[in-house]
Amino acid sequence: MKYYIIFGPPGAGKGTQAAPLAEHYNLKHISTGELLRAEIAEGSPLGLQAKALIENGQLVPDEVVEGMIARAFGKYRDVDGFLLDGFPRTYTQAIDLDEMLEARDEAITAVISLMIPDETVKQRIAHRAILENRQDDAREEVVQNRIDTYHRQTEPLIEFYKQQGKYHEVESLGTIEEVGAKIRALVDSL
Ligand code: ADP
Repeated sequence: MKYYIIFGPPGAGKGTQAAPLAEHYNLKHISTGELLRAEIAEGSPLGLQAKALIENGQLVPDEVVEGMIARAFGKYRDVDGFLLDGFPRTYTQAIDLDEMLEARDEAITAVISLMIPDETVKQRIAHRAILENRQDDAREEVVQNRIDTYHRQTEPLIEFYKQQGKYHEVESLGTIEEVGAKIRALVDSL
């Protein structure tokens, strides 16, 4: 099994790129953000707990998203691998993910990091707020919180994966198709 992580700040284009990429390589795309939004829409206890945190631009607890990931790994067997989008987002999640995979005699294949300046992030998210009606996209201070959370809690993972020799960067500027082509060229070269 292949295990790819698509990494980057909010609004970098992870979800946009992940869907066609997963299809191209027969991977199961797992987006923790999408799974959480589904829980919120259902009104489940987990969704209720997550809602307030997400709408403040904060992360939900590690064990919540780790549980979702573990369930997904157990559920999809008919694929060549997984494409993780929005996970891991903290150091603890990254360590626990390595342990989860080690227990299955597996390992992360590669981390694909989408690079984009903070200012572009803000413009894209403002646009997405209108298109997708996402509560966490609509308020400027929430978006700023998410960018701050990214720099504080998620960006340190770059060093973690660099040390494992698994970290690769792609500039997420240009058209969706252009960025997609750059990602496929990278994956094919691995
Ligand atoms: P974006 O990448 O645009 O920030 P996501 O859809 O990936 O959006 O995530 C939306 C929100 O869901 C995050 O701001 C966070 O509150 C929560 N979330 C998603 N993934 C995780 C995770 N791995 N750990 C903790 N919280 C998460």
